[in-house]
Amino acid sequence: MANPSHPPTPSNDTSQQATPPRHASQNPRQAEVVFLGTGTSVGVPALGCQCAVCTSDSPRNNRTRCAIAVHLPAAIADHDPAVDPNAPQHGSRTILIDTPPDLRTQLLREKISLIHAVLFTHEHADHLFGLDDLRLFPFRLGHPVPLYCQTRVEQRIRHSFDYAFSHREPTHPGAVPQLEFCNIDEAPFEVLGVRVTPIPMTHGPRFHVLGFRIGDFAYCTDTNGIPDSSLERLRGVRTFVVGALRHTPHPTHFSLQEAIDMATKVGAAQTYLTHISHDLDHEKTTSQLPAGVAMSYDGLRVKINFD
Ligand SMILES: [Zn+2]
Ligand SMILES: [Zn+2]
Ligand SMILES: [Zn+2]
Repeated sequence: MANPSHPPTPSNDTSQQATPPRHASQNPRQAEVVFLGTGTSVGVPALGCQCAVCTSDSPRNNRTRCAIAVHLPAAIADHDPAVDPNAPQHGSRTILIDTPPDLRTQLLREKISLIHAVLFTHEHADHLFGLDDLRLFPFRLGHPVPLYCQTRVEQRIRHSFDYAFSHREPTHPGAVPQLEFCNIDEAPFEVLGVRVTPIPMTHGPRFHVLGFRIGDFAYCTDTNGIPDSSLERLRGVRTFVVGALRHTPHPTHFSLQEAIDMATKVGAAQTYLTHISHDLDHEKTTSQLPAGVAMSYDGLRVKINFD
């Protein structure tokens, strides 16, 4: 795992520079969200399952584990005072939310060649264990990958990826991921020149997670409860993403009906459902959803406005 056969080239080699995102927004004040994965923790199809959704030919029923990428245009990202205007990758920036086990194939599929910062919703395995796939990016960034997360998530990362934090001298550059923690709590913070507002939520009876609001967009996966204080933070959101696991209730996730009820409460112009299990067929469920609520799918792209 920690031995790339071709060590990456340092960032001063222009041949290794990241290409801008393929579908970068044309509006200089608009950002773009790419849904990298929209499936529940085991993915869809589920290994060994012969149900109609898991054996479906529809690509919309093929869901990798949940993450999104947010492409910030240069006009926004350049306001980040930490950005060196002479850096080779000056221009657009990409924020990743969560590092699922499918991360490498998701980034290849969407032709995303560089991640500038990562935000973590929580430390469950389906949101975390693709972290090692960030290993090449410090060579192009010229610094470790910043990870914005709560203390509890940092502790899990330090424990699960202990080889990345060993005091032993690495055998070669790129042998282990270069990571830097940026501690967050429930207070809004800035990443790459944009304000991010955490949305505290429950994820079962004993566990708290964060959603994130950026501009008029909010991403709220892995939850079965959004308290009133967090609903306040969602006021004015135009695009709302919320987890919807299946038809029947679940102890740690919204069911489809609970997610639709929450969408009504939030009142966004458009809600997208994510973290979807094999219980929900894309086409069939889509035809039953109320106006303004839609199933998300891997590869879906939506815009973020900042006005
Ligand atoms: Zn999850
Ligand atoms: Zn199935
Ligand atoms: Zn979870």
